[in-house]
Amino acid sequence: IDTAMTAAPGTTVTLTGEIAHHIVRVMRMAPKDKVELVFPHQQAYVAELTQTTPTVAARLIAQLSFNSELPVAVTIACGLSKKDKADWIVQKGTELGAQAFVFFASTYAIAKWDPKKQVKKLERLQKIARDAARQSHRLVVPEVRYQKNVTALCQLPKDQGVVAYEEAAKAGETAQLVQVTQQLKPGQRVIGVFGPEGGFAPQEVTQLNAAGFTTVGLGPRILRAETAPMYYLSALSTILEL
Ligand code: SAM
Repeated sequence: IDTAMTAAPGTTVTLTGEIAHHIVRVMRMAPKDKVELVFPHQQAYVAELTQTTPTVAARLIAQLSFNSELPVAVTIACGLSKKDKADWIVQKGTELGAQAFVFFASTYAIAKWDPKKQVKKLERLQKIARDAARQSHRLVVPEVRYQKNVTALCQLPKDQGVVAYEEAAKAGETAQLVQVTQQLKPGQRVIGVFGPEGGFAPQEVTQLNAAGFTTVGLGPRILRAETAPMYYLSALSTILEL
């Protein structure tokens, strides 16, 4: 929940907006029912509802000690794809542990984001991230952003960057993904970059490489634009969480 208050057992919190709606209208909960509340800074509490009308309030009982986050902060950066692929990427990527999503315009992208509709689009994707985070018991709700080109993408802060490039897969560089992932230390920020349906223009890969992104392959099969980030997140969690 989005509050600046300091969470501690015994404290009563008032729940508003979408969360209150979810508790009362979707889950049809009543006083004494238990809920899990996640505060900023990744603290999760089990709480008991003290009232559901006229406002919704809950008393914090105990802090939960589970950790559902990956050991590193992963940003998934994707070229703009057609139809509802961005929705799918945000929903499934949140389930798989991504901490942020960036959608960027690129040379071979067929899809374009109308600047007038951009705010609404990002709000919609942010809601998908919130719902998926709640569903998969995440402690972090991933942030969704837009970047106008690869140059802007190159400037994002990171400890490690990888760019998935099918030419690298053809050249047999799939082992590179395992190697760079094993170099990650807990708490570091990694950005994984994926092309749109049309792939990357070679100069975009050169530009990303110059900005410190390592080219990696994702196996010998060409994956769809929305499958490639899921392969990466699954591989990363397998390598780092074992
Ligand atoms: N341009 C490619 C083509 O038409 O043959 C397909 C691009 S693919 C649909 C979209 C993106 O997924 C690529 O730009 C790349 O980032 C990633 N990708 C898909 N398969 C991959 C693989 N085997 N290795 C590395 N990246 C891959």
